[in-house]
Parts: sequence; structure tokens; C-alpha cells
Amino acid sequence: MIDLRSDTVTRPTPGMLAAMAAAPVGDDVYGEDPTVNALEARVAALLGHEAGLFCTTGSLANLLGVWCLVQPGQEVLCDVRAHIARAEMGAHGALHGITMRTWDSPDGVTDAATIAGMITPNAGPYLVSTAAVALENTHNFGGGTVQPHEHLVEVSWLCREAGVGLHLDGARLWNAHAATGVALADYGTLFDTVNVCFSKGLGAPIGSMLVSSAENIARARVQRKRLGSGWRQAGVLAAAADYAIDHHLPRLADDHVAAAAFATEVAAAAPSAVQLSSVTTNIVVLDTGVLSAADVAAKAAEAGVLVSALGAHMVRAVTHQEVSVEQAATAGRVVGAVLAGVPAT
Ligand SMILES: *Cc1c(COP(=O)(O)O)cnc(C)c1O
Repeated sequence: MIDLRSDTVTRPTPGMLAAMAAAPVGDDVYGEDPTVNALEARVAALLGHEAGLFCTTGSLANLLGVWCLVQPGQEVLCDVRAHIARAEMGAHGALHGITMRTWDSPDGVTDAATIAGMITPNAGPYLVSTAAVALENTHNFGGGTVQPHEHLVEVSWLCREAGVGLHLDGARLWNAHAATGVALADYGTLFDTVNVCFSKGLGAPIGSMLVSSAENIARARVQRKRLGSGWRQAGVLAAAADYAIDHHLPRLADDHVAAAAFATEVAAAAPSAVQLSSVTTNIVVLDTGVLSAADVAAKAAEAGVLVSALGAHMVRAVTHQEVSVEQAATAGRVVGAVLAGVPAT
């Protein structure tokens, strides 16, 4: 099976497991895990922020990041296909009393003018006040889209002028950095709070990092414990994340080559299914046309390729470190044949 459902399916490598086994650890609720403390400091510095909070999941890091910026009864603005809106089980509303208002966009590419037209800080006694904007980079359901850096700068200025917070869901910010060469800190410092994940393309088994000011992180640390997610000798997991930054961040560009190889093969058989120019990182979103996405995924699985059906006519394939460029190309031929309605070879 060639598994392209997600970049979360990777397993720790022998080198990563050795680093985990060798990690010095302590009780992180007491602030005494040296490996966690070092990782929090390292990633905060990489992103140009004062402090970091190592979290179980990206959903938790997003939940805490948005919570730092938005009070109950206020709103956060985000893209209609944002992970925080679609894939976090309504946590921001269910747990923190935060509402969301969304904008639509072609591939998840953020447009500052659209946001400017929606922001209503201090809306008075009649309308919901905007407290924050949240962006995603790369944009997952948009197709791994990289947000142009100049758009992010514009949105950052807009939010600062309006006095509203700005959160980045940077689950795959590593991929944006690999694709553009823009320094991580040149992304990070545009935002008040940033989430990055180690469990996606970086290949760690667990873990995400929220970075922000020391004050926000101190508050978020309390709220994390309140949510039942304080943890103890988490250094074994921090060691995996640390190893991933050293050894797997430099190879992310390979995943982008593999995604392009997959998309090229799909396009050769079914040109209308994919826009090659939109494939810039490790995610390929396919339009299945009249075919149902679930049927396409099922037929591809019969032929040895796993992809995700994420909408009625939307299939997603994600490359990662357990799939070579050759395997990705093979998978592209299989999915292309399914989409073209001919037997897979
Ligand atoms: C995967 C992902 C997250 C975090 O997901 P968890 O499964 O909670 O770690 C957040 N944002 C985006 C865009 C993601 O793709």
C-alpha cells in the first residue's frame, strides 16, 4: 500500500527512537523536564517569539493560541476551510465561548482586502466584536497553499492598526519555509501567536508548539492544565520533535518533489482533476468531477493507493517521508487511471 491519506501516518525512525530513549526527562508540570524546556526555547527562538508551550496536538495549540487573543462572546475571523473552523470539533465555541466568521477564498489564499471588509473591533452593543484573525500556512484544505509573504505582511499591519490579534495555524509552516526559503522568524514575527506541528511532515509521533509572548504563554500554560493536558516526562516526545527539526526539516523539499510527481501523473491521465500550478508543497487536492470522491478513494485503495475523500468531489493526497518520488509517481498513475475511468495499471 502507498499511503497518501496524510503526513500524520509516518512512524518514528530508528534514529528518532534512539534520541527519545536517550533524552533526559523530568516532571514538566513542575517545569523540570530539561528536554521540553530546551525545545520550547529553541522553537520560540526559531519563530522570533519569547516563549513556547509544547502541546499534545495542533488542535490544542490552536485552541490555546486563539484563547490568548479572544474573550468569550467575541469572534475570530478565518477562512471557510480553516482547520480551526472545520476540523477541531467546534472546540473554540464549545469550550471557550468564541464565535467564528469566515471568508471564502479560491485556494485558501488570504486576501487582506477581504479581511479589512470584515473586521469590526469594538463593535458596540449590537454586533459581535472581532478580537482576532486566524490564518493558515500552508493551507491544508486549500491544497497545501503557501500564503504569499507580502499578503501576510499586509494582514499583520491591518490587524495591528485595528487593534485585533493575529494567530497563525502553522501546522505546516515548515513546508512553507521549505518551499519559499522565507525564514521561519520572518513568518513568526508577523503574528501574536503561532502553532507549529511536529507530527505532520516532520515525522514526530506526537506534538505541536504554541509560541507567543512570555505573558501569553504563562496564561496558556495554566489553561492547558485546566483542560487536562499538563504532562509529566514529556521529554521523550520533545526529543523526537528536536530530532525532527535537525534531521527531517532539511528533507521536506523531497516531499514537494514527490507531490509534483504524483500530480503530474494524475494530470497526464485526467487533466481536469488537478491544476499543476497549485501544487507547491506536499498536498495535492483533486477534483473528481462527476465521480464521487468516496468511489475514487475506494477504487484507488483496491489498486494499492490510499487517499482521503474530503468532500463530495474532493480527494486529497499528501506526501511524506515514507513515500519516495517513484512511489508517488506510481500512485499518481493509479489515481489518474481511476479518474480517467480506465483500469489501473
Ligand atoms: C493537522 C493540522 C492541525 C493539528 O491537528 P492535530 O491532529 O490536532 O495535531 C492544525 N491545523 C492544520 C492546518 C492541520 O493540518
